[in-house]
Amino acid sequence: MFHSIRWRIAIPYVILIILSMLGIGWYLSNFTRQIYLNDLENELAAEARLAGEFIIPLLNEQTDPQEIDTLARRWAETLAARITIVAVDGTVLGESHDDRSTMDNHSRRPEIIAAAENGWGSSTRYSQSVGDFMMYVAVAIQPEGELLGFMRAAVPLAEVQENVRSLQRSLAVATLGVTLVSVLLALWISGRTMQPLRELTQAVAEISEGRLDGMRAIAGSRPPPRDEIGQLTHAFNQMTAQLSAQIAALQSERSKTNAVLSVMTDGVMIVDREGLVQLVNKAAETMFGIEHSEAIGHSLAQLLRHHQVFELWQYSQASNQPQATTVEAGLHKQYLQCIAAPLGQAMPGSTLLLFQDLTQLRRLETVRQDFISNISHELRTPLASLKALTETLQDGALEDPPAAQRFLQQIETEVDSLSLMVQELLELSRIESGRVPLKLKATNPCELIQQAAERLALQAERAGLALQIDCPSTLSSVLVDPARLEQVLVNLLHNAIKFTPSGGEVRVGAVEEEAQIRFFVKDNGVGIAANDLPRIFERFYKADRARSGGGTGLGLAIARHLVEAHGGKIWAESEEGRGSHFYFTAPLI
Ligand code: ADP
Repeated sequence: MFHSIRWRIAIPYVILIILSMLGIGWYLSNFTRQIYLNDLENELAAEARLAGEFIIPLLNEQTDPQEIDTLARRWAETLAARITIVAVDGTVLGESHDDRSTMDNHSRRPEIIAAAENGWGSSTRYSQSVGDFMMYVAVAIQPEGELLGFMRAAVPLAEVQENVRSLQRSLAVATLGVTLVSVLLALWISGRTMQPLRELTQAVAEISEGRLDGMRAIAGSRPPPRDEIGQLTHAFNQMTAQLSAQIAALQSERSKTNAVLSVMTDGVMIVDREGLVQLVNKAAETMFGIEHSEAIGHSLAQLLRHHQVFELWQYSQASNQPQATTVEAGLHKQYLQCIAAPLGQAMPGSTLLLFQDLTQLRRLETVRQDFISNISHELRTPLASLKALTETLQDGALEDPPAAQRFLQQIETEVDSLSLMVQELLELSRIESGRVPLKLKATNPCELIQQAAERLALQAERAGLALQIDCPSTLSSVLVDPARLEQVLVNLLHNAIKFTPSGGEVRVGAVEEEAQIRFFVKDNGVGIAANDLPRIFERFYKADRARSGGGTGLGLAIARHLVEAHGGKIWAESEEGRGSHFYFTAPLI
């Protein structure tokens, strides 16, 4: 409590007031006492002089001492004082309150000595005979200059002291009252003065605890005083207003940055000069499978455990230049383009690391390269054999009509296969670019299967295969373009026949599922290797180039596009050497 400024201001004032009151009290009581004593002294001196005048005729050797005693007692009664009459040699001649004969010589009493010297004297001291403090005033009796004796009047000081004590009591009460009032007044004034300071202190404490709602205007309801505290409050209010505005602006900037960082698909990290991660965005967390909390403040090397990224950061730091590299990193060994750029003045010593996932791009690039190499490979064989055939014909085979006939037939076959490929490529590109409008209509799945099977029945028979249809007549109709879906079935059946050795079996059919029909084409042929299975629906992909010699590798790609154009799905299950199962779905009406 006493640490507060309120008390620190109030207490010295209160002490000052108490000390001054005590000083004044002490001075006043002394002063009053002195006045009382002076008055009393003068009064007693006057009375002693008056009584002395009357005693003059008695001061000779003939006078009966008893008579002087009686006179002393009478004067004592009249003056309400103790009266002592002392001879020049100090012998007590008359005494009002004591037995004169038992009293010692008074010549050494201070008041008597003073009276002998100056005509009068006084002394205040404790009286053994009265048992109290007394004031003694003695005057010399010296008519016409001849010293005859001394008249001494004395009164107890009890009354004077009682008066002084009563004054002291009044002063004490007044001191207490004034002190109390001044304490209250000091507290009230200091409390009022301190109120804005207290509010300021509280607001500053709230801000320092991070509670920014403390940044409200102080003493907003009443006008601030014009004193120093008022100026301080005003300055504080201005400061908080500015700070609030700046914090709001910063927060808005920060939320914008956060929003951008969190929706970015590229991973972003900021690493300080010690290599500790200062910032990491959502994409980077997902890329590397790290938690935000474990990333911040941890070293880049520990976190990513990737020496190339770490070295890139080091190079960038050392050269103070942006550096880039491509690495295989991250949770799923993605193909990442990693850029390390020093942040310069914005964040001295820190480096921005940017990770762009190029996996998809790279895959597309691979597919494109595969496509080009595949198409050139596919074209090279027929073109080479065409060239060989024409050269053979030119070199004289024309002279041999049966041989020429055979060569021409082969040329026709090659040209057919080339035109088939071109046709399929055209078809595929048309389907892929969405230029094949689907003529949807309610179609019986079994009819589709039937028609496709009929188209390939002869081929199956020639290959020595049993072609089974497995289609319940209760199936619901599907909403499809029948010609296109039949094409899918034909492609699948064609493959099944092609990849099943003689004596095998091909089953084609459909089952109804929830909201869709699932078609299937199953064979017990050569099957597809597990690593080829995910890729067979790509253009030109041939699982085993030697065995699938005749195909273009486009059939399944066309089938996939057609099924997907109908909103369905196509997939294959296979075990090498035991056959393949192809499935696709089509929506019910
Ligand atoms: P292709 O015209 O070469 O048959 P597809 O796109 O139709 O091209 O098939 C791609 C590859 O998938 C084939 O080369 C083959 O290796 C494999 N494949 C497709 N169907 C089957 C099947 N029923 N059995 C075994 N392999 C198959």
